[in-house]
Amino acid sequence: MTLRLFGAGGAFSRRYGTTCSMVTLRDGLRWLIDCGRQAPDQIHDAGFCWHDFEGQIITHVHGDHVYGLEDFAFQRFFFSHHGVASTYEGGPRPKMIAHSAVVPEIWETLRPSLRYLRKGDSKIPAGTLEDFFEMIAADAFEAPRANPWRHSESFTAGGLRLTARENDHVPGKPSCSLEFRIGDDPSDERIAWWSGDSTVDPALLTALEPRTSVFFHDSTFVDYPGQVHGFFALLERLPKAVREKMVLMHHEDDIEDHRERVERSGFRIALPGHVYDLCSGQRVG
Ligand SMILES: [Zn+2]
Ligand SMILES: [Zn+2]
Repeated sequence: MTLRLFGAGGAFSRRYGTTCSMVTLRDGLRWLIDCGRQAPDQIHDAGFCWHDFEGQIITHVHGDHVYGLEDFAFQRFFFSHHGVASTYEGGPRPKMIAHSAVVPEIWETLRPSLRYLRKGDSKIPAGTLEDFFEMIAADAFEAPRANPWRHSESFTAGGLRLTARENDHVPGKPSCSLEFRIGDDPSDERIAWWSGDSTVDPALLTALEPRTSVFFHDSTFVDYPGQVHGFFALLERLPKAVREKMVLMHHEDDIEDHRERVERSGFRIALPGHVYDLCSGQRVG
């Protein structure tokens, strides 16, 4: 089970690209984590096309995480490629996994483009998200805590098992971190962790560490009032065991200026094209 980063930079990165990564499961099926505004070109440049993917996971709705989705939706709906028929001609819809609090915001951003599907003889546009993506429903959840939506939702789709847990990004905005189950056996609780965009939550990270192979964490060196990302000075204070399993992503274009300080504290830096084995947590490409 591997993870390959297509785009590893933050919201405004030009050098490392907005966020989009690919998880390849043991059965060979490929899923995308987020689909930023540069994702269509990143995926093409890496030698893939939309028809190579089983599904899409979305952490939250910001342009650097979802603005590539319209391309994904239309390409799969109207075009056949790589032996996969278009949805329009009866081919499979790509699957989509997102927390139920995030789904309405996904549709808000896609609706002006995707709603103009006419059904039967009706002249009324009637397109829905489900016309383009097979939405996977949660099979378990935790009750709301700080916000009016479920604290976490868990999903299963073939060999993919993950939990989307609300995190602390922009106050009041639905946003999730992801916990990918990496064991074969359903009772195996080991995970690989993905922050999405999140501030630093030392209590959660410390609690998860013993059963986590690798943490991919949002990071920034720019502090400001109302911080919504993983400020490095706070990441630096995490326990050594957590830091040594942590890969910094979603960073700014000047990350190389910080490399010595980052690596001295045990962190690794995610760059486009890097591949990690999610079971060992080690970089393999
Ligand atoms: Zn972001
Ligand atoms: Zn964000």
